[in-house]
Amino acid sequence: MSDSTRNSLSARTPSPVWHPYAHLKTQSPAPKVVGGEGPRFTLESGESLLDATCSWWCMIHGYRHPRLVRAIQQQADELCHVMLGGLTHEPADRLARELVRITPEGLNHVFYSDSGSVGMEVAMKMAVQYQYLRGQPNKHRMLSLMKAYHGDTAGCMAVCDPEEGMHSLFAGFLPQHHFAPAPTAPFDADDDAVQADLDALRKVLEEHHHEIAALLMEPLLQAAGGLNMTSPAYLRGARRLCDEFDVLLVLDEVATGFGRTGRMFAAEHAEVTPDIMVLSKGLTGGYLGHAATLATDRVHDTFIGDSELHAFMHGPTFMGNPLACRVALESLAVFEEDDYLGRISTLNAILRAELLEDTALRAHPAVADVRVLGATAAIEVHDADSLEGAAEFARRQGVWLRAFGRWLYTMPAYITSPEEMRQITDAMKGWFR
Ligand SMILES: *Cc1c(COP(=O)(O)O)cnc(C)c1O
Repeated sequence: MSDSTRNSLSARTPSPVWHPYAHLKTQSPAPKVVGGEGPRFTLESGESLLDATCSWWCMIHGYRHPRLVRAIQQQADELCHVMLGGLTHEPADRLARELVRITPEGLNHVFYSDSGSVGMEVAMKMAVQYQYLRGQPNKHRMLSLMKAYHGDTAGCMAVCDPEEGMHSLFAGFLPQHHFAPAPTAPFDADDDAVQADLDALRKVLEEHHHEIAALLMEPLLQAAGGLNMTSPAYLRGARRLCDEFDVLLVLDEVATGFGRTGRMFAAEHAEVTPDIMVLSKGLTGGYLGHAATLATDRVHDTFIGDSELHAFMHGPTFMGNPLACRVALESLAVFEEDDYLGRISTLNAILRAELLEDTALRAHPAVADVRVLGATAAIEVHDADSLEGAAEFARRQGVWLRAFGRWLYTMPAYITSPEEMRQITDAMKGWFR
């Protein structure tokens, strides 16, 4: 059999690719993407789609950005990979320095890994070992929030919302942690308005602080758990409670980091420094999988000691991959040189005008709430069924929207133009007309 016969035969049999979060019996065939440029990708059929979600929120520069592509090509020519065990290289060192420079004051140490989930696993292990090394081995559980999403690995599933968080069938397999109610006060709530949420958090800490190593939080925007937004005042209050109860504050900025909430990091809205912070998704502009777990001196220096147990026993094979570090450096340079925060504020103004201020949309009987923060907008409906068909509808308008649960949302690439942003909001609103 010639190669071409074999290829054409295999193209007709179903693909062995098993898709994520897909119901195998009802899934529709996945369209094949052959390329992309700016905020759009192109399908094999020639159809071009404006990506309203920038590929699970990571392709912040859009597709085929010339500077990012060139950075990877140049690095590939020099050094594609080398282990970080006992060795280092220029991109890993430079990126760590850059991350320390741009993150909240005090995060001075960078541990690399290869995905957001693993970055969170690293954060949790770090917190538990920190407490152990300080003579508090009983502080080995996490405190997480309802509506939280921190990743799909076992350790991460155990700190996702245990009821609505899509992992409930694994309950018997997972370790047990503590959960506080999800914050209910909106982004612009003041100190008084977040008090009830903070009281609920305090209650869990008062009861269980002796066994809690860290409070985990997606600051200001609980993303995959339902695009729940809250106030910087809540974050400041949580920081104070962590100090009071000797619990580390871990901020999962995997989704919120790199501009998504309107500041470089969500923590900046509250002027809070976490003890540990996790970055991924936008870190490399989405061009390669990578993550960074940053820690303060207080956390890091606790690992300086004589016993064997002082070593941090973690080391993913691909941590600090030179290609990923190099493209992350280029991504950051473009972010700053091309005034992405300015672009994000332009996108925010359009999202507010087109969605928040659309009284007909907000009054629609199917719509429960409309929320906007930075370059993120969500329309929450009362019943998930009312979003059935929304993706196909948007696709006919040339927009790639992927609703989940009760949320129709956009997290566009920051290079999305005002016209393109309106094309996305028109598709979102159009569904309700
Ligand atoms: C996506 C996400 C993760 C998991 O990252 P992966 O790279 O998919 O493992 C963790 N936390 C948050 C907040 C996320 O949005």
